[in-house]
Amino acid sequence: MEGSFFSVDMHYSQPSAYNGAEGGLVMHYAQYKTILSPQNHMNIYRGCTHGCIDCDSRSRCYQMQHDFEDIEIKQDALEILEAQLRRKRKPCMIGTGAMCDPYIHLEDELQITRQCLELVAQYGFGLAIQTKSARILRGIVQYCIEAQVQAILCFGFGMTLREGNREYYFRMLDRHFPGLKQQYMLRYGQAYSCNSPNNGRLMTILRRECQACGILVGTDSVFRYLGTFEQKPSQLSLF
Ligand code: SF4
Repeated sequence: MEGSFFSVDMHYSQPSAYNGAEGGLVMHYAQYKTILSPQNHMNIYRGCTHGCIDCDSRSRCYQMQHDFEDIEIKQDALEILEAQLRRKRKPCMIGTGAMCDPYIHLEDELQITRQCLELVAQYGFGLAIQTKSARILRGIVQYCIEAQVQAILCFGFGMTLREGNREYYFRMLDRHFPGLKQQYMLRYGQAYSCNSPNNGRLMTILRRECQACGILVGTDSVFRYLGTFEQKPSQLSLF
């Protein structure tokens, strides 16, 4: 488990870069002992400025002690990550983006994700990124082509809702799309997975297209892939 033991508030305003939160960007630093979880997942930031109204990370079970849009930055993230990578006996896949998008607006200025990824590459680890941001496209498209992307992780075409993010999502629907909340309540009730009525058709298309390109798709097989670090065969030597 990542361990937060000390937190310093430092608010930062930059209304021109992000206007999703009233008053502009807000962030604070917190000290952590580790940045990699036991499952080799790294969350560089906590909170997210993309502001998706259905975001699962708002859920109470994650026990975030600050506003979701007030971004917590892990102090000395690079030093901590490097120390953890050095201590690993063998390379593995490092994941990022499950709890917070690694390419939030602040990344433009802070570049912490970029530097973390450089460390991951430098120490010879594999990498799996989840993001909704087009910022990843800066420089990575060419990398993906050269690296021959292996897999697409798709849980289905829809969204998840549960206590904590459901209330927020419904409040936003009431504000921006009056009447839509009632349709959600009628169709999905208290369900966690809320798939689109077109989910089956869309998944069929996705699978067909991926198979045609030799790209792995489907949650079980992709998760197996995410947890498997490909070892390159090395030539045995007599000496
Ligand atoms: S990008 Fe991801 S983490 Fe950020 S608000 Fe949207 S769903 Fe949540």
